Amino acid sequence: MHLPYTTPLTSSFVKVFFPMQIEVMFEFAAAHQLPNHPGRCQRMHGHNYKLIVAVAGEVDAHTGFVADFSDIENICNEAVLKKVDHTCFNDYLENPTAERIVQWMWPLLKGRLPGLCELRLFETSACAVVYRGP
Ligand SMILES: [Zn+2]
Repeated sequence: MHLPYTTPLTSSFVKVFFPMQIEVMFEFAAAHQLPNHPGRCQRMHGHNYKLIVAVAGEVDAHTGFVADFSDIENICNEAVLKKVDHTCFNDYLENPTAERIVQWMWPLLKGRLPGLCELRLFETSACAVVYRGP
């Protein structure tokens, strides 16, 4: 089954039908405090987050791309990075765990980023959450 790149896709559809996935990594710094955490994360603190945005789709016969990396960079910078870098996630979310943060980011990107299939957010170099939203 071949679909044009511009077809709006749900992430579950993308996962099933497209063997090619491309990814762009972003870095940003932000603060948060977790009100329901039993330990030190209840206090305000910051992270140097890494966000990996994945897009799946057909490899275009002419360009050889699933999508242009710079288009993905521009869309993500405009929709998410400008909003979150050097801010406090508690301004947006009551309990901004990494899980809640990617759930909040997903609709900011979906619709603007055709083929969006996965967000991977590293809170530290060793710990990440992966979200494949609706
Ligand atoms: Zn934290």
